[in-house]
Amino acid sequence: MMRGKSVYKPPLPLTIHKLNYLVIDDRRIEIHKRVGRRRRSRVMLSYHPDGILFVDAPRKTTDRALRIIIFRNEPWLRKEIQKHKNGDLVVYPTQYESGRVLYVLGSPATLRVRKQDKTTVNYHDSSVVVGAPEDAPIRAIVHDWYRQLANTVFYATVRRICTSTNLLEQLPTWKHRFMTSKWGSCSSSGTMHLNTHLVKVPQQAIDMVVLHELCHFKELNHGPKFYELMNRHMPDWKKHDATLTRYQQLLHEQVV
Ligand SMILES: [Zn+2]
Repeated sequence: MMRGKSVYKPPLPLTIHKLNYLVIDDRRIEIHKRVGRRRRSRVMLSYHPDGILFVDAPRKTTDRALRIIIFRNEPWLRKEIQKHKNGDLVVYPTQYESGRVLYVLGSPATLRVRKQDKTTVNYHDSSVVVGAPEDAPIRAIVHDWYRQLANTVFYATVRRICTSTNLLEQLPTWKHRFMTSKWGSCSSSGTMHLNTHLVKVPQQAIDMVVLHELCHFKELNHGPKFYELMNRHMPDWKKHDATLTRYQQLLHEQVV
């Protein structure tokens, strides 16, 4: 029997230091508590590859309870760290300062912040240049800019997909907002809801989400008829669906 030279080393135990940081396999991970910033009923953990574990918790959660939850999620945390080692997942910036990387329609763009009296945002040559007064909330300015970009991009996309597929007789009512768990949905009243974060993903993936929601106007559930429609209008939709999973991490950013 062949035996490899590798020696089995048991993983080092996870240790938590006063809920400020934890150490897992010799790696230090900062713990950022975001307590009560939103009305939520349970604790949610999300890992950011900058080495940060975000802990969103209801206001009354005790430190002891949080420690238990983190310990219980150790296997999940190890998997997250491993996933990000490959480096193909797209992440959001933890700080909005010059040099950080943002995403616009699937392309990375460097954020550049300049001090000036008037607030302006310009996107060119793979840069998002934000001009703003000292101490201006850069994160909020960028998110507002994304919202405006989404208005234009989604308007054109919904129009184009609707016309080319002929699925509906008229354009549907649509809205967009930053959402944390889904890229799109449609309500029983016939409104299509798109996630504003979609302006960060490649156009073809946006097309795929819009088509998906349009098909729901014809087929409510994800049955065979629904996928027949998807396959007919976008034979390679699965490829774009897979692209979207690379951007899934963007949904964990808290947008103010
Ligand atoms: Zn669906």
